[in-house]
Amino acid sequence: MLSRRHFCCAGVLAGTTAPFGRALAADQCTALTRERQAALSPDEILKELKAGNERFLSQTMRNCDLLGQVRATAGGQFPVALVIGCIDSRVPPELVFDQRIGDIFSARLAGNIVDDDVVGSAEFATRLAGAKLIVVLGHSECGAVKGAIDGAELGKLTQLLHRITPAIEANRTAPGEHTSKNKDFVQQVATTNARLAAQGLQQESQVLRDLVTRNELRIVAAMHDVASGRITFLE
Ligand SMILES: [Zn+2]
Repeated sequence: MLSRRHFCCAGVLAGTTAPFGRALAADQCTALTRERQAALSPDEILKELKAGNERFLSQTMRNCDLLGQVRATAGGQFPVALVIGCIDSRVPPELVFDQRIGDIFSARLAGNIVDDDVVGSAEFATRLAGAKLIVVLGHSECGAVKGAIDGAELGKLTQLLHRITPAIEANRTAPGEHTSKNKDFVQQVATTNARLAAQGLQQESQVLRDLVTRNELRIVAAMHDVASGRITFLE
């Protein structure tokens, strides 16, 4: 069974500032438009998300009028990225990347797993809705990863955790005990799990593969540290 120990811990803020994307800097609080979405490249969007995490870490978040954003996006949305993350309450993509209403799609399942419905959501977000970057965002101290490592079983969660098995198997020669008590092993499996999910998206979807081939989409994996708020991209 899963225990309370699998879902723990706290966070602190620390870090530095960095300039953010030229195309998005014009007006920090203007909602994205079709034209702006079309003008940004996948690399520029990645740069903006990195800058957003730096703003979060340095407590210089944009602090826009969210209701104003609601009104500005009521007629349509032009998000530039999709973040595939875990349901963990400490890793809300919009906050840790300092993004606003209408900026990014967000798909969240325990352990940031990618199943057919997540792939379908990714196809919608990119091919149909114009997002050009997918970030698979794993995180430290992930309860789902710990549960998978310990072979936890509970209702339908059991089958979800089985999706993390390939990441555990990929680390079968890692040093130390292979239980959730070994922090290094948990981190290693979580990192592999994010990488495999990013690779899996392309393997599973011709639609996504075609977009990547045409340089209209970039798919990357990243890890969020729940103790610092810092996001490290795995490139
Ligand atoms: Zn998690």
